[in-house]
Amino acid sequence: MDDLLIRGGDIVDGTGAPARRADVVIRGDRIVAVNSDYAGPARRVIEATGHVVAPGFIDVKTHSDFTLPLYPRAESRVHQGITTELVGGCGFTAEPIPAGRLAAIADYLAAMAPGLPLRETSFKAYVGSFPATSVNVALQVGHNTVRVAVMGLENRAPTVQEQAKMERLVGEALDAGAFGLSSGPFTAPGAFAKPQELEALARIAAGVGASYTTHIRSEDGCVFRALREAITIAEHTGVRTRIVHAKVSGTGNWGGAPRLIAELTAARERGVPVECDQYPYAMALNPLRNLLPSWVQEGGTKRMLQRLCDASVRDRIRTEIAARGLNAFGHVPSWEAVRISTSSTDEVGRSIADVAARWSCDPVDALCKIVVSDRGATRAFVLSMEEEDVRALVACPWVLVGSDGRAYGPGGPLASELPHPRSYGTFPRILGHYTRDLGLLTLPQAIHKMTGAPARALRLTNRGVLQAGAAADITVFDPMSIADQATLDEPRRYPAGIAHVIVNGIAVINGGVHTGALPGRVLRRSR
Ligand SMILES: [Zn+2]
Repeated sequence: MDDLLIRGGDIVDGTGAPARRADVVIRGDRIVAVNSDYAGPARRVIEATGHVVAPGFIDVKTHSDFTLPLYPRAESRVHQGITTELVGGCGFTAEPIPAGRLAAIADYLAAMAPGLPLRETSFKAYVGSFPATSVNVALQVGHNTVRVAVMGLENRAPTVQEQAKMERLVGEALDAGAFGLSSGPFTAPGAFAKPQELEALARIAAGVGASYTTHIRSEDGCVFRALREAITIAEHTGVRTRIVHAKVSGTGNWGGAPRLIAELTAARERGVPVECDQYPYAMALNPLRNLLPSWVQEGGTKRMLQRLCDASVRDRIRTEIAARGLNAFGHVPSWEAVRISTSSTDEVGRSIADVAARWSCDPVDALCKIVVSDRGATRAFVLSMEEEDVRALVACPWVLVGSDGRAYGPGGPLASELPHPRSYGTFPRILGHYTRDLGLLTLPQAIHKMTGAPARALRLTNRGVLQAGAAADITVFDPMSIADQATLDEPRRYPAGIAHVIVNGIAVINGGVHTGALPGRVLRRSR
């Protein structure tokens, strides 16, 4: 007897092929048939008439490694149909933490991974002890973390020995099953690395067939130079490279997405293995301290706090921001565009303009004061993109979907955070708002972008498609009602229209309700 029959749905199989009516049959953790006339008995039947049956969605860009140990049920993820996440983007990962480096890495990750228990361990031990969760997890090793592990927040080139040490740590992580190396040269300490440092590490990944993902050095004023740096690394090393959360940030760059797509297309056409992903929102989220010039963080948190208490340093910061805009984001229309999302101060939900007015001070002083008051842990929304650019990237069929979000659930240690709505709404937003309502993509194209295409990018040979033999990761949704419902003011609202989510053959969402099951696996890179 089969375990599960999903009957009468419209199959959109993840390959980009049009929908067809068929039944899906599951035995154990596998799909055993996708038939148009299944007659056998099954222990359980899901009536899917009027619903789309698709492969489970694959989120290629998340930071859930920082929250899954706190929220293993991953409600924010599975309620939107996600069954697999590639975690550890932007160079920030919780491991490796070599002996004696726990304090430095805990200090560095304070703003990014609040509440996460960290321990000194090898990447191999980390992979082996990652907790059971509701989603499949693919891990990466982050350059920023590796650099802090080897040389702290020093703004200089590594010595030969330090470079070798970083290469060894990256190699060990890849051997332990990490899918690739991630980098984040937009901020300290990745910003202190020259391209050749990253290239040498990317070469390690290329050598074992792993990938390289990068939050490029600039997404604002120097976005095209930064893009070329990433393309050059792909070209020199042959490493499969993905620009994560591709965007053009800062008012001076608005309207630049078609050029960004054109430059990537040109590279792809000459055979460079480069692609990108995107989250479908005009608003970003980052530690507030990262909006300051990257030299502010040199030497670590203590040095940063000393600098920010110095009026002459704040004057220098003010001058630099006036000239170049916010680090990593460029010029924003006003200080209303920067709004506190997470902070131990009382300012959560307020814009920097608001805070400055309340405190009767200059906005840069207000920003610095907030950073100082919770030692750099505050995070902030930055409305730095233009909707037309977001749409241009959504409409590009080969741009993958990466939420840049995290696993959250009700309550728990992060209950006071205002998460970015992308953590709860990314995939339904593409399928509902951008595909059904605005018609930027066909439904099979949109589903391919979030299933078959990312599976190919991650070399997941048995996921991302609905076919006999594939892993039974399946999302069943109503194409008429699917919609994101998370907003800036109510960021924790689950999306509408996702009826059933199956992970490795086990129901995680059943009739829109989380079953509590934790059938996700830590995936290892296939060699
Ligand atoms: Zn990033």
